[in-house]
Amino acid sequence: MTRARVMGVAAALCAAFGAGAWGQAVPPFTLQDLGGGAWAAIDNAAAKADESGSNAGFVIGADGVLVVDTFENPAAAKKMLEAIREKATLPVKYVVNTHYHLDHVAGNAVFAGAGAVVMAHENVRGWERTENLKFFGENPTAEQRAMVEGLYLPDVTYERGATAFLGPKRGVELRYMKGHTGGDTVVWDAESNVVFCGDLFWNKTLPNLIDASTKEWVETLDALVTEHPGAKFVPGHGDKAGDAGDVKAFRDYLAFLREAIAKAQTGGVNGDAVVKAVLPQIKAKYGDWAFPEFMEPDIRRTDEELRGVKRLPPLAMK
Ligand SMILES: [Zn+2]
Repeated sequence: MTRARVMGVAAALCAAFGAGAWGQAVPPFTLQDLGGGAWAAIDNAAAKADESGSNAGFVIGADGVLVVDTFENPAAAKKMLEAIREKATLPVKYVVNTHYHLDHVAGNAVFAGAGAVVMAHENVRGWERTENLKFFGENPTAEQRAMVEGLYLPDVTYERGATAFLGPKRGVELRYMKGHTGGDTVVWDAESNVVFCGDLFWNKTLPNLIDASTKEWVETLDALVTEHPGAKFVPGHGDKAGDAGDVKAFRDYLAFLREAIAKAQTGGVNGDAVVKAVLPQIKAKYGDWAFPEFMEPDIRRTDEELRGVKRLPPLAMK
Protein backbone atom coordinates (compact mmCIF):
# COMPACT_ATOMS: atom_id res chain seq x y z
CA MET A 1 0.00 0.00 0.00
CA THR A 2 1.35 3.40 -0.91
CA ARG A 3 1.16 6.51 1.25
CA ALA A 4 -1.37 7.86 -1.23
CA ARG A 5 -3.39 4.72 -0.76
CA VAL A 6 -3.35 5.09 3.00
CA MET A 7 -4.65 8.61 2.53
CA GLY A 8 -7.19 7.09 0.19
CA VAL A 9 -8.44 4.83 2.95
CA ALA A 10 -9.02 7.83 5.19
CA ALA A 11 -10.79 9.76 2.45
CA ALA A 12 -12.93 6.80 1.54
CA LEU A 13 -13.94 6.28 5.15
CA CYS A 14 -14.98 9.93 5.33
CA ALA A 15 -17.06 9.46 2.22
CA ALA A 16 -18.53 6.21 3.54
CA PHE A 17 -19.73 8.00 6.66
CA GLY A 18 -21.26 10.83 4.72
CA ALA A 19 -18.61 13.45 5.48
CA GLY A 20 -17.64 14.03 1.89
CA ALA A 21 -19.32 15.43 -1.17
CA TRP A 22 -17.18 13.66 -3.72
CA GLY A 23 -17.84 13.33 -7.41
CA GLN A 24 -18.38 9.86 -8.73
CA ALA A 25 -17.11 10.30 -12.27
CA VAL A 26 -14.65 7.41 -12.19
CA PRO A 27 -15.92 4.13 -10.70
CA PRO A 28 -13.57 2.43 -8.21
CA PHE A 29 -12.91 -0.56 -10.46
CA THR A 30 -13.47 -1.89 -13.98
CA LEU A 31 -14.52 -5.45 -14.64
CA GLN A 32 -12.44 -7.54 -17.03
CA ASP A 33 -14.16 -10.65 -18.45
CA LEU A 34 -11.71 -13.57 -18.32
CA GLY A 35 -14.18 -16.12 -19.71
CA GLY A 36 -15.75 -19.18 -18.11
CA GLY A 37 -17.47 -17.12 -15.39
CA ALA A 38 -14.22 -15.61 -14.07
CA TRP A 39 -13.90 -11.84 -13.73
CA ALA A 40 -11.14 -9.50 -12.63
CA ALA A 41 -12.09 -6.25 -10.88
CA ILE A 42 -9.27 -3.88 -11.80
CA ASP A 43 -8.54 -0.89 -9.56
CA ASN A 44 -9.10 2.49 -11.18
CA ALA A 45 -6.25 4.63 -9.89
CA ALA A 46 -8.09 7.77 -11.05
CA ALA A 47 -11.12 7.14 -8.82
CA LYS A 48 -11.61 10.01 -6.36
CA ALA A 49 -14.04 8.25 -4.02
CA ASP A 50 -14.75 4.73 -2.79
CA GLU A 51 -11.27 3.69 -3.96
CA SER A 52 -10.63 0.00 -4.49
CA GLY A 53 -6.93 0.32 -3.63
CA SER A 54 -6.16 -3.05 -5.22
CA ASN A 55 -7.49 -5.54 -7.73
CA ALA A 56 -9.99 -8.23 -6.82
CA GLY A 57 -12.18 -10.65 -8.76
CA PHE A 58 -14.85 -13.32 -8.65
CA VAL A 59 -15.85 -16.66 -10.16
CA ILE A 60 -19.47 -17.50 -10.97
CA GLY A 61 -20.06 -21.26 -10.86
CA ALA A 62 -23.07 -23.53 -11.19
CA ASP A 63 -24.49 -22.96 -7.72
CA GLY A 64 -22.64 -20.02 -6.24
CA VAL A 65 -20.03 -17.30 -6.48
CA LEU A 66 -16.53 -17.07 -5.02
CA VAL A 67 -15.00 -13.63 -4.46
CA VAL A 68 -11.25 -13.05 -4.31
CA ASP A 69 -10.34 -10.08 -2.06
CA THR A 70 -12.55 -7.22 -0.90
CA PHE A 71 -10.69 -3.93 -1.57
CA GLU A 72 -9.54 -1.22 0.81
CA ASN A 73 -12.96 0.04 1.86
CA PRO A 74 -16.50 -1.27 2.26
CA ALA A 75 -17.98 1.16 -0.30
CA ALA A 76 -15.94 -0.37 -3.12
CA ALA A 77 -16.85 -3.86 -1.88
CA LYS A 78 -20.54 -2.96 -1.97
CA LYS A 79 -20.14 -1.90 -5.58
CA MET A 80 -18.52 -5.24 -6.43
CA LEU A 81 -21.39 -7.08 -4.73
CA GLU A 82 -23.82 -5.03 -6.84
CA ALA A 83 -21.85 -5.86 -9.99
CA ILE A 84 -22.03 -9.57 -9.12
CA ARG A 85 -25.78 -9.31 -8.51
CA GLU A 86 -26.21 -7.88 -12.01
CA LYS A 87 -24.60 -11.01 -13.46
CA ALA A 88 -25.92 -13.76 -11.20
CA THR A 89 -28.68 -14.36 -8.68
CA LEU A 90 -26.66 -17.20 -7.11
CA PRO A 91 -25.47 -16.86 -3.52
CA VAL A 92 -22.00 -15.47 -2.86
CA LYS A 93 -20.78 -18.55 -1.00
CA TYR A 94 -17.15 -17.70 -0.33
CA VAL A 95 -14.70 -14.85 -0.02
CA VAL A 96 -10.99 -15.65 -0.17
CA ASN A 97 -8.54 -13.13 1.28
CA THR A 98 -5.27 -13.61 -0.60
CA HIS A 99 -3.41 -12.01 2.34
CA TYR A 100 -3.95 -9.73 5.34
CA HIS A 101 -3.03 -6.32 3.84
CA LEU A 102 -5.72 -3.72 4.38
CA ASP A 103 -6.31 -3.05 0.70
CA HIS A 104 -7.45 -6.68 0.21
CA VAL A 105 -9.63 -7.29 3.29
CA ALA A 106 -11.41 -4.08 4.27
CA GLY A 107 -14.68 -5.02 2.56
CA ASN A 108 -15.00 -8.51 4.10
CA ALA A 109 -17.96 -7.54 6.27
CA VAL A 110 -20.00 -6.53 3.21
CA PHE A 111 -19.85 -10.05 1.81
CA ALA A 112 -20.15 -11.77 5.20
CA GLY A 113 -23.31 -9.72 5.72
CA ALA A 114 -24.60 -11.13 2.44
CA GLY A 115 -24.00 -14.68 3.68
CA ALA A 116 -20.49 -15.47 2.42
CA VAL A 117 -17.95 -17.51 4.38
CA VAL A 118 -14.60 -15.70 4.48
CA MET A 119 -11.63 -18.03 4.00
CA ALA A 120 -7.89 -17.37 4.27
CA HIS A 121 -4.54 -18.73 5.35
CA GLU A 122 -4.28 -18.87 9.16
CA ASN A 123 -1.77 -16.00 9.27
CA VAL A 124 -4.36 -13.64 7.76
CA ARG A 125 -6.52 -14.11 10.84
CA GLY A 126 -3.43 -13.75 13.01
CA TRP A 127 -2.22 -10.48 11.45
CA GLU A 128 -5.23 -8.65 10.05
CA ARG A 129 -6.10 -6.57 13.15
CA THR A 130 -2.51 -5.95 14.30
CA GLU A 131 -0.02 -5.77 11.41
CA ASN A 132 -2.30 -3.50 9.35
CA LEU A 133 -1.75 -0.68 11.87
CA LYS A 134 1.76 -0.13 10.54
CA PHE A 135 0.39 1.29 7.27
CA PHE A 136 -0.76 4.37 9.22
CA GLY A 137 2.73 5.23 10.51
CA GLU A 138 4.05 5.58 14.05
CA ASN A 139 0.96 7.15 15.58
CA PRO A 140 -2.31 5.96 14.09
CA THR A 141 -5.34 8.04 15.02
CA ALA A 142 -8.09 6.57 17.19
CA GLU A 143 -10.28 6.24 14.08
CA GLN A 144 -7.59 4.39 12.16
CA ARG A 145 -6.97 2.07 15.08
CA ALA A 146 -10.70 1.38 15.48
CA MET A 147 -11.02 0.69 11.76
CA VAL A 148 -8.16 -1.85 11.77
CA GLU A 149 -9.32 -3.48 15.00
CA GLY A 150 -12.84 -3.74 13.60
CA LEU A 151 -11.88 -5.50 10.37
CA TYR A 152 -13.87 -8.66 9.71
CA LEU A 153 -11.66 -11.73 10.25
CA PRO A 154 -11.74 -14.92 8.17
CA ASP A 155 -14.34 -17.43 9.37
CA VAL A 156 -12.38 -20.44 8.07
CA THR A 157 -8.59 -20.72 8.03
CA TYR A 158 -6.19 -23.32 6.68
CA GLU A 159 -2.49 -24.08 6.79
CA ARG A 160 -1.78 -25.48 3.32
CA GLY A 161 -4.91 -24.80 1.30
CA ALA A 162 -8.49 -25.84 0.60
CA THR A 163 -10.92 -26.46 -2.25
CA ALA A 164 -14.09 -24.37 -2.50
CA PHE A 165 -16.85 -25.94 -4.62
CA LEU A 166 -19.12 -23.90 -6.88
CA GLY A 167 -21.12 -26.89 -8.08
CA PRO A 168 -20.48 -30.65 -8.09
CA LYS A 169 -17.62 -30.45 -10.58
CA ARG A 170 -16.13 -27.04 -10.06
CA GLY A 171 -13.61 -27.07 -7.26
CA VAL A 172 -11.65 -23.82 -6.98
CA GLU A 173 -8.24 -24.45 -5.46
CA LEU A 174 -6.86 -22.26 -2.69
CA ARG A 175 -3.14 -22.79 -2.17
CA TYR A 176 -0.77 -21.29 0.37
CA MET A 177 2.35 -19.98 -1.33
CA LYS A 178 5.27 -18.03 0.09
CA GLY A 179 6.75 -14.65 -0.77
CA HIS A 180 4.68 -11.50 -0.30
CA THR A 181 3.67 -11.79 3.37
CA GLY A 182 4.09 -15.33 4.64
CA GLY A 183 0.33 -15.84 4.56
CA ASP A 184 -0.57 -15.65 0.87
CA THR A 185 -3.10 -17.71 -1.06
CA VAL A 186 -3.19 -18.30 -4.81
CA VAL A 187 -6.67 -19.11 -6.17
CA TRP A 188 -6.86 -21.31 -9.27
CA ASP A 189 -10.09 -21.93 -11.17
CA ALA A 190 -9.34 -24.79 -13.56
CA GLU A 191 -12.50 -24.36 -15.62
CA SER A 192 -11.65 -20.81 -16.73
CA ASN A 193 -7.89 -21.40 -16.32
CA VAL A 194 -7.55 -18.25 -14.27
CA VAL A 195 -5.05 -17.82 -11.45
CA PHE A 196 -5.89 -15.07 -8.95
CA CYS A 197 -2.47 -14.24 -7.51
CA GLY A 198 -3.23 -11.55 -4.93
CA ASP A 199 -0.04 -9.59 -4.33
CA LEU A 200 2.22 -12.44 -5.36
CA PHE A 201 1.97 -10.90 -8.85
CA TRP A 202 2.20 -7.17 -9.70
CA ASN A 203 1.72 -6.58 -13.43
CA LYS A 204 4.29 -4.06 -14.70
CA THR A 205 4.09 -2.51 -11.26
CA LEU A 206 6.79 -2.23 -8.59
CA PRO A 207 5.76 -4.23 -5.53
CA ASN A 208 5.48 -3.48 -1.83
CA LEU A 209 8.14 -5.65 -0.16
CA ILE A 210 7.39 -4.60 3.43
CA ASP A 211 6.72 -8.21 4.54
CA ALA A 212 8.45 -10.00 1.67
CA SER A 213 10.79 -12.96 1.50
CA THR A 214 12.07 -12.52 -2.03
CA LYS A 215 13.98 -15.82 -2.29
CA GLU A 216 10.81 -17.80 -1.62
CA TRP A 217 8.80 -15.37 -3.77
CA VAL A 218 10.97 -16.09 -6.84
CA GLU A 219 10.47 -19.83 -6.24
CA THR A 220 6.70 -19.33 -5.99
CA LEU A 221 6.59 -17.44 -9.31
CA ASP A 222 8.74 -20.09 -11.00
CA ALA A 223 6.24 -22.71 -9.86
CA LEU A 224 3.21 -20.72 -11.07
CA VAL A 225 4.69 -20.16 -14.53
CA THR A 226 5.70 -23.82 -14.87
CA GLU A 227 2.38 -25.20 -13.64
CA HIS A 228 0.07 -22.80 -15.49
CA PRO A 229 1.78 -21.91 -18.79
CA GLY A 230 -1.49 -21.07 -20.57
CA ALA A 231 -3.39 -19.40 -17.74
CA LYS A 232 -4.59 -15.85 -17.26
CA PHE A 233 -3.08 -14.34 -14.10
CA VAL A 234 -4.94 -11.67 -12.13
CA PRO A 235 -2.44 -9.39 -10.34
CA GLY A 236 -3.01 -7.73 -6.97
CA HIS A 237 -1.91 -4.48 -8.60
CA GLY A 238 -1.49 -3.54 -12.25
CA ASP A 239 -4.00 -2.45 -14.85
CA LYS A 240 -4.95 -5.82 -16.36
CA ALA A 241 -4.68 -9.58 -16.09
CA GLY A 242 -1.44 -10.94 -17.51
CA ASP A 243 -0.07 -14.13 -19.01
CA ALA A 244 2.83 -16.36 -17.96
CA GLY A 245 5.25 -13.98 -19.69
CA ASP A 246 4.09 -11.09 -17.51
CA VAL A 247 4.50 -13.22 -14.39
CA LYS A 248 7.99 -14.18 -15.55
CA ALA A 249 8.83 -10.48 -16.07
CA PHE A 250 7.79 -9.76 -12.49
CA ARG A 251 9.79 -12.74 -11.24
CA ASP A 252 12.80 -11.36 -13.11
CA TYR A 253 12.42 -7.98 -11.33
CA LEU A 254 12.73 -9.68 -7.93
CA ALA A 255 15.67 -11.80 -9.12
CA PHE A 256 17.40 -8.72 -10.62
CA LEU A 257 16.90 -6.77 -7.40
CA ARG A 258 18.40 -9.58 -5.32
CA GLU A 259 21.36 -9.98 -7.63
CA ALA A 260 22.14 -6.26 -7.92
CA ILE A 261 21.92 -5.81 -4.13
CA ALA A 262 24.07 -8.85 -3.38
CA LYS A 263 26.72 -7.44 -5.73
CA ALA A 264 26.51 -3.97 -4.14
CA GLN A 265 26.86 -5.48 -0.66
CA THR A 266 30.31 -6.90 -1.44
CA GLY A 267 32.78 -5.65 1.15
CA GLY A 268 30.15 -5.07 3.84
CA VAL A 269 28.44 -2.13 2.16
CA ASN A 270 24.78 -1.62 3.11
CA GLY A 271 21.97 0.90 3.53
CA ASP A 272 22.44 4.23 1.71
CA ALA A 273 25.46 2.98 -0.22
CA VAL A 274 23.47 0.06 -1.60
CA VAL A 275 20.63 2.40 -2.59
CA LYS A 276 23.15 4.65 -4.38
CA ALA A 277 24.59 1.72 -6.32
CA VAL A 278 21.34 -0.05 -7.20
CA LEU A 279 18.78 2.74 -7.72
CA PRO A 280 20.16 3.83 -11.13
CA GLN A 281 20.04 0.23 -12.33
CA ILE A 282 16.40 -0.18 -11.29
CA LYS A 283 15.49 3.18 -12.85
CA ALA A 284 17.14 2.20 -16.12
CA LYS A 285 15.45 -1.18 -16.33
CA TYR A 286 12.08 -0.61 -14.62
CA GLY A 287 11.55 3.14 -14.96
CA ASP A 288 8.31 2.64 -16.90
CA TRP A 289 6.62 0.43 -14.29
CA ALA A 290 3.86 1.82 -12.07
CA PHE A 291 4.43 2.71 -8.38
CA PRO A 292 8.00 4.09 -8.81
CA GLU A 293 7.75 5.24 -5.18
CA PHE A 294 8.52 1.64 -4.20
CA MET A 295 11.94 1.67 -5.91
CA GLU A 296 13.97 2.88 -2.95
CA PRO A 297 12.02 1.00 -0.25
CA ASP A 298 12.36 -2.19 -2.33
CA ILE A 299 16.14 -1.78 -2.31
CA ARG A 300 16.32 -1.04 1.42
CA ARG A 301 14.03 -3.93 2.35
CA THR A 302 15.85 -6.43 0.19
CA ASP A 303 19.21 -5.15 1.49
CA GLU A 304 17.92 -5.91 5.00
CA GLU A 305 16.55 -9.27 3.91
CA LEU A 306 19.84 -10.38 2.36
CA ARG A 307 21.71 -9.29 5.51
CA GLY A 308 19.28 -11.26 7.68
CA VAL A 309 18.07 -8.23 9.65
CA LYS A 310 14.66 -7.65 8.10
CA ARG A 311 11.63 -7.53 10.39
CA LEU A 312 8.89 -9.93 9.30
CA PRO A 313 5.43 -10.30 10.87
CA PRO A 314 5.72 -12.67 13.85
CA LEU A 315 4.11 -16.06 13.36
CA ALA A 316 0.61 -16.09 14.79
CA MET A 317 -0.14 -18.13 17.88
CA LYS A 318 -2.68 -20.85 17.16
ZN1 LIG B 1 -0.15 -6.79 -0.22
